[in-house]
Amino acid sequence: MEYILATHNLKKRNELSRILSPRGIGVKLADEIGIELTEVDETGETFEENAFLKAHSACLESGMPAIADDSGLTVDYLGGAPGIYSARYSGTHGNDELNNELILKHLEKVPDGKRGAAFVSVVCCCYPDGKVIYTRGECRGRIGYKAVGEGGFGYDPIFLPEKYGFNVTMAQLTAEQKDEISHRGMALRILADMIGEKDI
Ligand code: IMP
Repeated sequence: MEYILATHNLKKRNELSRILSPRGIGVKLADEIGIELTEVDETGETFEENAFLKAHSACLESGMPAIADDSGLTVDYLGGAPGIYSARYSGTHGNDELNNELILKHLEKVPDGKRGAAFVSVVCCCYPDGKVIYTRGECRGRIGYKAVGEGGFGYDPIFLPEKYGFNVTMAQLTAEQKDEISHRGMALRILADMIGEKDI
């Protein structure tokens, strides 16, 4: 069975397909099947609701099972913000640099012990027959004091993953290293195990 990836974010799309393809999940992008997916308004109040809105819309428009991820950064000191508003935290959708600056500003003078944060990814898979699957992954870490590294996207340059001892940012990891510990890697591996060869 082939799945359509319901995202307009190129870097996220690359992560989704490089994690799912080697696990035998056939994924297609909208342009590969000659359609354009509507950009859905993320009006949900949870990662689950927004992931569903994106996957459901893509499933209806393509007639194929669709996979979407809704993800974000939750900062303990900010009471879980920016959470579902991660992409537009600074006001402009997708301005990673401004988003990172704003987080660093809010955490100015906050000590290491209070800089805890997590990346969260909720993946939703919608089938044309109405079946819906959700999986969730989290990656704990800390917010650094400045942006470092060129890899990844979004908040990666200011996020110090716990699994690397808070010594490097997510943006300093290779793609393989990030996938191994990331929220999205975790959610997608669970999904792949569920839908794998025994396609539903
Ligand atoms: P979405 O497209 O609404 O799911 O927005 C996700 C936003 O969360 C992105 O624009 C990033 O700001 C942030 N985000 C999600 N996943 C990651 C990641 O793996 N690294 C860094 N930032 C991420």
